[in-house]
Amino acid sequence: MQVSEILRRNDVTLSFEVFPPKVTSNFEAVQRAAYDVAKLQPSYMSVTYGAGGSTRGNTLKIARGIQQEHGVTTITHLTCVGATKEGIRQALADMKEAGIENVLALRGDRPKDFEGEPFTDYRYASELVEDIRAFGGMCIGGACYPEGHVESENTQEDIRNLKKKVEAGCEYLTTQMFFDNNIFYNFLCRVREAGIDVPVIPGIMPITRPVQLQNAVKLSGCNVPMRFRSIVDCFGTKPEAMQQAGIIYATDQIIDLIANGIKHIHVYSMNKPEVVKGIQESLSRII
Ligand SMILES: Cc1cc2nc3c(=O)[nH]c(=O)nc-3n(C[C@H](O)[C@H](O)[C@H](O)COP(=O)(O)OP(=O)(O)OC[C@H]3O[C@@H](n4cnc5c(N)ncnc54)[C@H](O)[C@@H]3O)c2cc1C
Repeated sequence: MQVSEILRRNDVTLSFEVFPPKVTSNFEAVQRAAYDVAKLQPSYMSVTYGAGGSTRGNTLKIARGIQQEHGVTTITHLTCVGATKEGIRQALADMKEAGIENVLALRGDRPKDFEGEPFTDYRYASELVEDIRAFGGMCIGGACYPEGHVESENTQEDIRNLKKKVEAGCEYLTTQMFFDNNIFYNFLCRVREAGIDVPVIPGIMPITRPVQLQNAVKLSGCNVPMRFRSIVDCFGTKPEAMQQAGIIYATDQIIDLIANGIKHIHVYSMNKPEVVKGIQESLSRII
């Protein structure tokens, strides 16, 4: 099923993201974790893609397994950094053969070990979106950044570029994580003002270890509200307490989003079924 169809329904959706193994040696353990997330029967799932296609085979294997063995509609992420047009056509043909109808079209970041110029056939995700659209048969999603993409001069420019991506054929957008819902509401207002009318799905990251927050800040420069910083400062050295506090904080963000009319929410599961299960159970009378 195409995700656009799921998003058109009138119900609130809760979807989960998982990542594939970087190396094949731990494939089974990662697959087991991803399948345990799938057993929770979210509205749909997504499987990330290693920088420059490093996890390509594993992304597809996990996505196909989630769909075929657990009956959960799955999106595969696809990046175009360092890719050729021919490589992208092959990746799409492989997805089609595996029964995947949904792709999150991303530019990706220059892989650390990439030699030469990585932006030859593709410069921006919007160019990938155009090619996927021409390939046909895929529901296309894209990424967006409530606090602005790190390379953007300012958020206006970022939103102008986002509009080009939607005009190229993006049917919905999923946001980078944020820890203050007001940042998302503000962004949504500006996106709508710019005439972007596709669903914008907030991406919520339950933080269960302080290092996750450090990485998130380093990678995306996202804002950490004082209230959340105090929680991490207080519980960060007590793993079980931190996990519980992280689940509660993420659930609180989701409840606020739903109360403010946001119908579709994506959770970065970090391959931790127990964490998304905790969120799902806390929302059992709400969704
Ligand atoms: C929900 C989500 C999922 C992700 N999943 C993955 C994953 O699986 N694998 C992975 O490697 N990375 C992933 N990423 C990270 C992503 O690849 C990086 O953030 C990357 O730096 C940007 O990708 P993009 O698709 O948003 O790029 P783009 O949409 O191309 O934007 C990149 C930058 O270029 C600018 N830009 C865009 N179009 C133009 C234009 N026409 N002219 C001038 N400037 C322009 C934008 O403003 C932005 O600053 C994900 C990010 C998100 C939010």
